This record gives sequence, C-alpha cells and structure tokens, in this order.
Amino acid sequence: MQNPLARFVPQLAGEYPKSFLKLFDQVLVPSGMDTEEVKQSLWKAFEFGYRHHEGQKRKSGKPYFEHCIAVAEILASWNMDPTMIIGGLLHDTIEDTQASHSDLVENFGEDVAILVEGVTKLGDIEFSTREEQQAGNFMKMLLSVAKDLRVIIIKFADRLHNMLTIEYMPRIKQHRIAMETRDVYSPLAHRLGMAKVKWQLDDLIFKTLNPKAYKEINSNLKSTTKQRERYIKTVTNALREELKKYDIEANVYGRPKSHHSIYKKMSKQDKSFDEIYDKEAIRIIVEKMEDCYLALGVIHQNYSPVQERFKDFIATPKTNAYQSIHTTVVGPDKKLVEIQIRTEEMEATAEIGVAAHWKYKESNGKDSKGMDSHVGWLRELLDILQSEESDPREFMHLLKIDLFNDEIFVFTPKGALVQLPESSTPIDFAFKVHTEVGMKCLGSKVNQKVVPLNTVLKNGDLVEIITGKDQSPNYGWLKFVVTSKARNKIHRFLKEADREASLKLGEEILIKTLRRLKKLDLQEEIKSSFQKFGFQTTEQLMEVIGNGTLTVRKILEKITPESEPDFDLEDETPSRFSFGGKTTKGVQLQGIKDVMVSFGKCCNPIPGDEMLGFITRGRGLTVHRSSCTSLPLLNEQKDRLVPVDWDVAKTDLFNVRLKITGQDRKGILKDLTESISSQNINIKSVDMRGKDSVATAHFIVQVNNIRQLDRIIRKIKKVKGVDRIERAER
Ligand code: MN
Repeated sequence: MQNPLARFVPQLAGEYPKSFLKLFDQVLVPSGMDTEEVKQSLWKAFEFGYRHHEGQKRKSGKPYFEHCIAVAEILASWNMDPTMIIGGLLHDTIEDTQASHSDLVENFGEDVAILVEGVTKLGDIEFSTREEQQAGNFMKMLLSVAKDLRVIIIKFADRLHNMLTIEYMPRIKQHRIAMETRDVYSPLAHRLGMAKVKWQLDDLIFKTLNPKAYKEINSNLKSTTKQRERYIKTVTNALREELKKYDIEANVYGRPKSHHSIYKKMSKQDKSFDEIYDKEAIRIIVEKMEDCYLALGVIHQNYSPVQERFKDFIATPKTNAYQSIHTTVVGPDKKLVEIQIRTEEMEATAEIGVAAHWKYKESNGKDSKGMDSHVGWLRELLDILQSEESDPREFMHLLKIDLFNDEIFVFTPKGALVQLPESSTPIDFAFKVHTEVGMKCLGSKVNQKVVPLNTVLKNGDLVEIITGKDQSPNYGWLKFVVTSKARNKIHRFLKEADREASLKLGEEILIKTLRRLKKLDLQEEIKSSFQKFGFQTTEQLMEVIGNGTLTVRKILEKITPESEPDFDLEDETPSRFSFGGKTTKGVQLQGIKDVMVSFGKCCNPIPGDEMLGFITRGRGLTVHRSSCTSLPLLNEQKDRLVPVDWDVAKTDLFNVRLKITGQDRKGILKDLTESISSQNINIKSVDMRGKDSVATAHFIVQVNNIRQLDRIIRKIKKVKGVDRIERAER
C-alpha cells in the first residue's frame, strides 16, 4: 500500500504524480537556475494548490485543480519563468479556497502573492457589455497591466483554458463568457500583440456564438483538406528548393487560417467559401533579419508579387510590436498565395506579443514588471491615463478608437511608413510623426495635392505636413482628430491657452470695473482674498473672473459687506464661450399687445433692422429680418405676414451671429476677440476653424441695435488678416 502521506510528500512514495511531471517537462528552466531547486518550488506550489482545491469539481465533472495545471501548462508553452508558472498553478487559490494572501506570502514569497492577488482582482471586474462601459472595463484592465504585466498574461492563459472548456457551461453562461471575451479579451490580446492567443480566442468565440456557421466552414474545410494540402506541399517544396540554392536556412510551412478569419473574409467580401483563395498562409522562418529580405528577393524572382499586398512590418513594426514581411504572390496554377517571412524571435513576438518582450527583458535584469518600451501604443495610453488632467470620458473615447479601429499605413515624403488608426487625418499624422510637427501644423498635402486638414487618410497615401512657425492647435481640430496622442496634446494646449486668456481677461475686468466704481484701491485686497473663495492662488481667482464664473460684484459683496452693490453691471464682461438663456424682447404689433413673440433663429433681427412678423398657428408671432432668406418660403402664406416695429428699451441686448473669414494666422482669434471686447460688446460664443490656411470664425455677440453692430463690424475689418464679415443666418 502507498504511504498515506505520499500525496503530500511524494518522496515517500518515491515519485511525483504524473500530471506534475508532465507539467515540469514543459517548463523551461532559466539558465543560472538550479533544475532541482526549480522542481522543488514548483512541487510545493503544485501540492499547495492540489490540497486547497481538493474536493472542488469543474462543470465537466473533473477535479478543479486540473484547470490550474492546464493554465500553468499554457504559461509554460509561452516559455514563462517558474514564478509565472507557480502563479498559474495558484491563480484561483485566493478566489476559490481558504488560502489567504498572507498564506501565499509565507509559502511562496511576496512576488507570487502579488500575482495571484492581481489575477483575483482582475476577476472581480464586472465587465459590462453596455457599449459606454466597455472602455471603463479596459481602463481597469490597463491599470492592472500597468502595475504588473505578468498578471494579464496569467489572466489570458486562464481565459484561454476557460474558453477551451466552455462547452461544459450552461448555454446562457457560454454566451456571456464568449461575449465578454469578444469585447474585452480579444481586442486587448490584439493590442498586446498576442496574435496566437487572439486567434485561438476568436475561433472559440465564433464557435460559441455562431455554431452553425462554424460547423459549415468546418465541414467545408474538411472536405477540401486533401487538395489544399497537396497544393501547399507543392508550394512549400518549390520554395525550399529555391531558398536552398541561395543557402538560406529556413523553416517553410503552411499554416491553415482560422475558421473565424475565413468566415470574416467571406462576410466582408461577400464571397462563398470556394471564392476565398487564401485559406492558409505560407510561413518562412529564417535565422537572421537579413535573410528575411534575401528570402523575399528569391520569392519575388520566382513568383510575381501582387503590388498592393506587400507589407514590410520589419522596417516598421506594428504598434503592437508585430514584425514580419507579408507578400502575396501568384503561385503555381495562377493561384494567389500569401507568404509571411520572419525570424524566430519575430515569430515568438507574433505569437505571444508583450509576453515575449517581458521575457527578453527579464533576462536583462531589472524593471521586469514594468511596461515594455516596445509597446508604444500602451505606453502612450498609460501616459494619458496617468496624466493629472485625464478626463475619464475622454480617455474612454480614445481607448475605443485605439482598440477597435483597424490600422492604415501611409507614407512620409521620404518614404517612411507610418501607421495610424482608420479615419486618421493629416493632423493625426503630424502628431504621430512628431509632437512639434503637430503643434505647428498649418496645412497638408496628400499625394502632392493640398487638402483640408480634416481629410480622412487612406492606405498608401503620401502625406506631407506644412508647418508654420506661428501656428498652434485650435478647437476645430478636436472635431476630427482620432488618435489619442493628437487629441491629448491639442487638449492640453488649448486648456493652457484658455487658462492664460481667462487670466488676462480676469485682470482686465477687475481693473476696469474697479476703476469705474472708483474703488481701484481695493485691487490688492481683492487679489489677496482668493482663499475666501476657495482658491489656492490669485491666478485661480483671476481665471474665474475671466471666464465669468465669478463676478467682481460678488467679490465686493463678500469682502466689503457694507458697500452697496449700486453699480451697473453692464460692463462686467459675462462669461465667454457660454450660451445664456434666450429671452424674448419687445416687438410692437400694430394695435395688439401681449402677443407671444419669438425671433426667427435663422436671422436674429436686432433693433434697427427692418422686420416682418409671421403669425404662426399656435406659437404666436415669429419675427424675421425682411431680408431673411426663409421669408420667401413663408410667402405662400402671405396673409399671415404683418409689419412689426421695435419696442425695446435701449439697454436690451440682442444676439447677432457674425461669420468672419480671414487668413489663418496665429493670434487672429485673440485679436478678433480683443477688438470686439474693447467696444464693451459681450461675446456669447466663439467657434473658429482653419482650412487651407483660411480661418473661419463664428461669433455670437450681444448688441443693443444696428448702429452698434455696424460700429463693431467696421472695427473688426481693421484686424490684420480679416477678409470678410457677414452677418450670418443659420
Ligand atoms: Mn481560473
């Protein structure tokens, strides 16, 4: 009989369990580590996990711990180190057993405990399939990635095994898990460059969510296996022969594409199974990078390449660090064949992405847990996430674009390849090339033609950016840029510029108001009263005066309670960039009083304008300028048009839209704003955009009457660079 203690102390039985030995066989013991020591520590974890999960069963009826072993084996197949394998073995202990964090620290050290706790926390995240919450899910995921990349790698191994055994789950749970995997794990695997994991997950998701289509493709693939294999053999043999002639050591093999990718091609191109030509790709794995290009040369010499299908991801790795050469050639029997050429190291990166980089880095020693510098995409996002001003909603927007959009590839004038998300514009391109290029972007040429900055770039475009020394980002850009980097930089710049403008304006308003009230002596007292209003600096106080959040009157009331608020507030410039409520001003309709009056939003009449009233059904009288373009439309109902007159107080304010066009130069917005404010005219809103070095600004200003309006129009015309001013209709 076996010693009853043998399960815990295998040496007593003289052997380890088979499942342990099978796992240990797959573990790559890092050089410099003692094999026996590694075995002992792995065994300790194995035993611990086995003991704690004892009695638990999976839905399949198998012992729960088999899942933990499977996860450890997946990690071993990715060549992860012993600590990671131990983390895999124990990944469910905190969640599902009596073991605590301190138990793990005591037995396996802080590092393992951190990993297991990280995986447990990740499991606690409720992933919502509601679209607006998805990005929030990613945010939490990414934060954990930022802390310790190893946690997400274990989580992927866990998820992969759960998907592999999903058939034992109740149908409804299968659905939920598959959708979560589709919405969260698959895109993240893609962005982390874990191509093989993504590929495996996608196929399992497809199988779960669309079993009918999966079965159909499966049977189609089966019935054509022989002929496809024969063809692949012909091609690979021919390629091997050719490569040998040039002494290129290469491993050449055919790789079937996943069910999911074939299905995606079929639905995307609206083709039948038979019409999809590339159901497998040929891989050529060589030793050195130079050999990749040599092999490419040999292939193109023998088979003519399809021009637009050639991509060099070695010279320009994808954002997820993927490297390879892709080419599609006309192979034997005039069939198109896709060939991928890469080195072994690139192959490892292509399969497990960041995990491979983490591994390489680990061997270099320090900072193994941190982010990998190769994964620029992630670093950029985390940068934004960790910057003090990040707005979660804005971040989510960026994240979604970065995670879901496909990439396009465009060229610099020097021929360098630049990759961008779909829907990118020249501004995105400019920021991608260099922040300074983006900040000074004035115009752009695509394929030698000048185009507006909001042009959507297409694959293969040659993009050139024209910069101007005095140029700077404006609000208009935010309406069309898509990349995180561009948005973030533009935001930061505008925020700072806004802050500076408000600060300046605040000082001006304060001094002007105090001068008018003959209370200039209070200036210093007000400036040093910032704490009374909950601010930390004088600047902050000036800023809120400038942006209209706080009025000088309110400040005076508070610091000199006895003083009477007897001054007229008209000069106190109200908030810029904000819309106030709409009030109805007086209009006289011959003989009738108290009629419900509204102003045509199309033309915004102001006192002095010739007007016509239109009697609506049930909404009273609408008043338009007699030159309003929407009046002829109303003309059919001529009998409803009535002459009206103004009946307003001199101080009533009316909104007027002004469209100003001019040269898109730096500071033009500031000059326009200043020339308007200098007349004591309130600006209710500003919108400005530049296109082909033409700036178009829309202002809504508040005036008393037409004379005042004419005066400011004359004044604006004098601003340098201004070309045209129109009173705009909407
Ligand atoms: Mn698990």
